[in-house]
Amino acid sequence: HPKAHIIDGKVIAPQTIDKVKAARETLEAETGVKPGLAVVIVGEDPASQVYVRNKGLKAEECGFHSETHRLPEATSEAELLALITRLNADPKIHGILAQLPLPKHISEKAVIAAIDPDKDVDGLSPINVGRLVSGLADEALVSCTPAGCLVMAKSVTPDLSGLNAVVVGRSNIVGKPVAHLLLAENCTVTIAHSRTRDLPSVCRSADILVAAVGRPKMIKGDWVKPGATVIDVGINRIPAPEKGEGKTRLVGDVDFGEAAEVAGAITPVPGGVGLMTIAMLMANTVIAASRKAGRPEIG
Ligand code: NDP
Repeated sequence: HPKAHIIDGKVIAPQTIDKVKAARETLEAETGVKPGLAVVIVGEDPASQVYVRNKGLKAEECGFHSETHRLPEATSEAELLALITRLNADPKIHGILAQLPLPKHISEKAVIAAIDPDKDVDGLSPINVGRLVSGLADEALVSCTPAGCLVMAKSVTPDLSGLNAVVVGRSNIVGKPVAHLLLAENCTVTIAHSRTRDLPSVCRSADILVAAVGRPKMIKGDWVKPGATVIDVGINRIPAPEKGEGKTRLVGDVDFGEAAEVAGAITPVPGGVGLMTIAMLMANTVIAASRKAGRPEIG
């Protein structure tokens, strides 16, 4: 048995979904508004098809109005933007998600910017990033993986105020928004990246260590401060010859076996942060619908 408490996505993601269902019921009972999520996919990428299907199923499970728009690979940017414009104006729809990546002939930047910021449940539009950074978290929709990291960290320590947080990775999708969420929780935040000097000792200063690097098992046990909370965002597929020839398995950016002997709490991979992303998408949809109905406290 590892020493650390395991922050279990298989427990916390369903708890989040239960809260979403309760909020959906209250919202519908008190305002008649049913949250609506529209997911748009362009092309046939098999992984994206699976993600989009799962998002639609989860939205139905939450009792939302759910639409999936499947467009052919040859769809033009103008056609996709016209669909976004229609969905922006559709009162049944409170959340719009364009599944990434889009085909190369379509500008992802243009599509994300075209989504009404108040329906941008992926939290990727410059307006939502700006709201988060300028301390308007109450008005922002925060991107789902970073929001999931925060829920997992707070499941261990509800008040993060004053703690040292180190985020390894500075991508726009994960590292930067996680760092801003932790700052909004009054952590003292360090953002580390590929040019950081002496990364092991920077990591050892962390009460909350978030790894969003994309390098299998990079963060070793002796980089972790005893008792720290470790949130491992990495999803890396590595060869697993022990399972048979050509087999693979998923590991995080943290060496789980080592870190779990030192940390106070740690998320596993798989079964950790990865499970939170869809749950937070559903949470963002009910938040967007509640705000639209003038009842932000329900979301
Ligand atoms: P990116 O590749 O966009 O960013 C990686 C970051 O890690 C960069 O900021 C980079 O620094 C930094 N980095 C790379 N090598 C090192 C190093 N040796 N030392 C320190 N820092 C380093 O990745 P993402 O943020 O998109 O994703 C990170 C991981 O999270 C991936 O494994 C991805 O699969 C996973 N992920 C999981 C999700 C989920 O759970 N649902 C969702 C999204 C991502 P620099 O900026 O200097 O290059």
